[in-house]
Amino acid sequence: MSDSDDLITQLVHHPYQAPAGWGAVPPGVFKASTVIFPSVAALRGRSYTAKTGYTYGLRGTPTTYQLEERLATLEGGRFCILSPSGLAAITNVNLGLLKQGDEVLLPANVYGPSADMAASVLSGWGITHQTYDPMNPADLAARISERTKLVWIEAPGSVTMEFPDLPALVAAAQARGVLTALDNTWGAGLAFRAFDFGVDIVMHALTKYPSGGADVLMGAVITRDEALHLKLLKLHGQLGLGVAANDVEFILRGLPTLALRYHAHDAAARQLAAWLGTQRHVTRVLHPALPGAPGHGHWAAHCTAAAGLFSILLDPALRRAQVDAFVDALRLFRIGYSWGGPMSLVVPYELDAMRSDRSALPGHLVRFSIGLEGVADLQADLAQALAQLG
Ligand SMILES: *Cc1c(COP(=O)(O)O)cnc(C)c1O
Repeated sequence: MSDSDDLITQLVHHPYQAPAGWGAVPPGVFKASTVIFPSVAALRGRSYTAKTGYTYGLRGTPTTYQLEERLATLEGGRFCILSPSGLAAITNVNLGLLKQGDEVLLPANVYGPSADMAASVLSGWGITHQTYDPMNPADLAARISERTKLVWIEAPGSVTMEFPDLPALVAAAQARGVLTALDNTWGAGLAFRAFDFGVDIVMHALTKYPSGGADVLMGAVITRDEALHLKLLKLHGQLGLGVAANDVEFILRGLPTLALRYHAHDAAARQLAAWLGTQRHVTRVLHPALPGAPGHGHWAAHCTAAAGLFSILLDPALRRAQVDAFVDALRLFRIGYSWGGPMSLVVPYELDAMRSDRSALPGHLVRFSIGLEGVADLQADLAQALAQLG
């Protein structure tokens, strides 16, 4: 490439090319800001939106395209856009679809930072929001107005674990021509087929099960409709929401074991949730696969699996300090946000902000994410911490 005597020129423009025909199990990892075009005509002729060529690292590389295509397959969609976190993917949807004067509807038990974004960022830009009761499709229908442009759905809410009547919520929005976006982090593409319910957009926090390692932050927005995808892709490009190739590599590495891990978390969580339901001080177990849990009928009608996530309600007669002491007494369950990783986690939540009517879920809520430790060990840990409540 260069007949220069300059050592650095020789290194930068080195003639050696690795042979074609490399074959290995993992896909290669390509890192780039600049992408080299063979000619000016190629530079002028390429568009990143079609995924038929490369233009600039931020707009996609073989590495990001491979993950996007796999995630579209996982969720049953046609298009996928990666963002640097689940919350950034939610931002991509909100800012891509909402403008001043519009309104977005959120379930009352919505992922907390999503509500915070609506209350601060969106409202500052003249986009209003309302929360609806996810367990009452009529309440959603009643809140839809001319200004409603987007309805977010979670199945189930990831703290209260209430599983909604998904088809009824989607139908309420569709009846008024309003787009629906489902946060499918819990279902992970495995518990149910989100697009079969007619949702327009699926958001997946890859930070949870696809990563599986409690190490990578990433989010995805998956769609079936091309025009909708291009609208979201345009905003994504304008905001500069790129992801790092080495982070994508971790997710690509995690995908083949996604189902194995998901079902293992599921089996362990169901066992522990059922056992907790028999324990003193535990007044209710909020796990959608357990009979009696809120929305169990909807879960049973629509799902073939569940995530390793559930909550319990502890006796309202307990003082908050006692609940905190119970959580502090756990040894294998570590205190921390997120889920989907190998280590079991626990967080006590204040429900007041999530439900205007607390009477449906009385007591102190504690959420567990079941990791991959031995179930007997986790049960023993819960037993010793519960014993401390007296
Ligand atoms: C974690 C999570 C998100 C956000 O994902 P981050 O990558 O942590 O930003 C969104 N929705 C749900 C339901 C989540 O659990």
